[in-house]
Amino acid sequence: MPGVTDFEVTDFSVAVVGAGPAGLYAAEALAKGGVRVDVFDRLPTPYGLVRYGVAPDHKSIKSIARYLQRVLEHPAVRFFGCVELGTDVTRAELLACYDAVLYSTGAMVDRRLDVPGEDLPGSVAATDFVNWYCGHPDAADHDFDLSVEEVAVIGVGNVAVDVARILAKTADELAQTDIPVAVLDALSRSRVRRVHLVGRRGPAQAKFTTKEARELGELPGVSVHVRPADLELDPASAELEAGDRHVRGNLAAMRAWTGPPDPARDRRIDLRFWRAPVEILGSARVEGLRLERTALVDGRVRGTGEYEELPVGMVVRSVGYRSLPLDGVPFDERASVIVHEKGRIADGEYTAGWIKRGPSGVVGTNKSDAAETVGVLLSELGGRPRPVADIESVLASKGVEFVTYRGWLGLDAAEMALAKSLSRGERVKLGTWDAMRAACPPR
Ligand code: NAP
Repeated sequence: MPGVTDFEVTDFSVAVVGAGPAGLYAAEALAKGGVRVDVFDRLPTPYGLVRYGVAPDHKSIKSIARYLQRVLEHPAVRFFGCVELGTDVTRAELLACYDAVLYSTGAMVDRRLDVPGEDLPGSVAATDFVNWYCGHPDAADHDFDLSVEEVAVIGVGNVAVDVARILAKTADELAQTDIPVAVLDALSRSRVRRVHLVGRRGPAQAKFTTKEARELGELPGVSVHVRPADLELDPASAELEAGDRHVRGNLAAMRAWTGPPDPARDRRIDLRFWRAPVEILGSARVEGLRLERTALVDGRVRGTGEYEELPVGMVVRSVGYRSLPLDGVPFDERASVIVHEKGRIADGEYTAGWIKRGPSGVVGTNKSDAAETVGVLLSELGGRPRPVADIESVLASKGVEFVTYRGWLGLDAAEMALAKSLSRGERVKLGTWDAMRAACPPR
C-alpha cells in the first residue's frame, strides 16, 4: 500500500469533521504530511471546546485559538462552517469526495444521574449551563433561574469547578470576558450566594486539578469551606496522597479551607465529599437535594444508609460529557466512543479527540491523540479508490450555504468590534444563530 511518504507533494485530500482542537491538530499534522484538508463544522465558528467549553475567565487557555488559527490559515486547509454531518452532508458523500474522512466531533452531550426529580425545573446539565455562559447559539434560549440563593453542583471535576466559579463571581468580575451581553445581564441579576460542590467519593479522589482548585481559594469576596471531617483520609486515600503529586496538591489547597467562613465575604463555596445524590426534591421545581453519605469499600463507593438534605433551588449535574454516535460509524454505547484501533475505524475512516478516547485530558492532549490517528491515516493513504466527487458541487446541489474561513473572520471581527464598543475587553460573543450568520460576509 503506498503511504504518503512515497509522494513529495500529494494530491490526496482528507475531510476532517469537527473543527475543535482534535480536528485542527489533525488538520495540522495532515497538512504537514502534504495532504489537502477540508475541515467541516456544524457551527459557523471553529475551535470547538476552546470557544464553547473553556470558561470565559480562563483567557490563557482560550489563547490556544491563536495557535489553531494558524492551522486554518495553512494554504492546504479550508474551513466549511455550518455543514452538519448527517444533515447537510452524508458520510457516503464525504467518502466519495475524499481519500479519507476523520471524525472529531467531540462529546457535547450530558450524562444523567438517574435519580428521582432529575427533570424538575431547576435541575440542569452542566453542558447546558456551560454552553449558555460560553454563548453557544444552541443555548441562547436557555433561561436559568438564578433568583435562588443556594445551588448544588454534582461532581468534582474541572467542569464543576468552572460552574461553581462562574456562579460565585459577580457580573462585574466577568465583564472583561467574552460572555454574551444577554448572559452577562442575566448573571448580573443572580441572587446565588452559596454553591455546594458535591463529590460522591473523597477529597483524594477529586478529579479537579490543583491549579483550578487554588483559583477558587483566590476569588475575592468568596469564602471557600470544607469540613475537616470530610478531609480525613482512609488508608487507601493516604496512600494516594503519598504517591500522587496531583492528589497532594489538591489536599494541600483544601486543607487551607477548613477554618470558619469569613463573614466579610458575602459569597460562599462549600466542598462536600462522601455524599452521593439520591433524589432531587420539589413538587413544581427544585426545592432541595437529598444526599446519601458514602464510604469506599474495596475501592468502590457504597451508600452508608445515612441521609442529609441541602436546601438548594438549583442542581447542576456536572458528571461528565458523552459523545453521540454518527450514522453508520461503529459505536461503543457503553463507553460512548467510536470503535477504532489507534484511530482507524475502517478503510478510509478515522477518528480523533473525545469521540475517540472519551472526555478526558486537557486541550493539548488532543495533539498527541490526533498525531496517533494521522500517523495511521498517512500510512494507509492511497489504499482505497480515489475520490469521484467534488464537495463544493455536492453542497451546491443540496443548497447548503456553508461559511468559509473568510466568513468566520467577519464574525470574529464583529465580536471584537462589539467588545470595543462596550469597553468589554477583546471579544464579546454573538450568541444567537441569526446574529452569527448575519456577521459572516457572503461568499
Ligand atoms: P470529570 O473530570 O470526569 O469529572 C466528573 C465528576 O463527576 C467526577 O467527580 C465524578 O466522580 C463525578 N460523577 C460521575 N458520575 C457521577 C454520579 N452518578 N454521581 C455523582 N458524581 C458523579 O469530567 P468533567 O469535569 O466533565 O471534565 C471533562 C474533562 O475536561 C476533564 O479531562 C477535565 O480535566 C477537562 N477540563 C479541563 C479544564 C481545565 O483545564 N481548566 C476545564 C474544564 C474541563 P467519580 O470520580 O467518583 O466518578
